Amino acid sequence: MYPDEPWPGGERSHGIQGYRDYVRELLGDDESLLSALSPVLAGTSNLGRNVYCPCGSGAKYKKCCLSRVEEIESRVGRNVLLLALSGRGEV
Ligand SMILES: [Zn+2]
Repeated sequence: MYPDEPWPGGERSHGIQGYRDYVRELLGDDESLLSALSPVLAGTSNLGRNVYCPCGSGAKYKKCCLSRVEEIESRVGRNVLLLALSGRGEV
């Protein structure tokens, strides 16, 4: 059930909730930003680079949260993000 990649989350709880906490922490512990970016991070929303960023900043996505999303994807991995943020991992 759980991905077999090395756990990147340090002292946080393991499993889906731990990954979710870790991603939120990478976003500056901002729950609303996490909610806004969750579909993008989970890959359930295919966002163009030139659309306005879902975080509500009014900037284009490529100039705003794209680098953060890419950073998180590189650290956590697509499969884990899908599980942790698509809602499928919630009990
Ligand atoms: Zn943004």
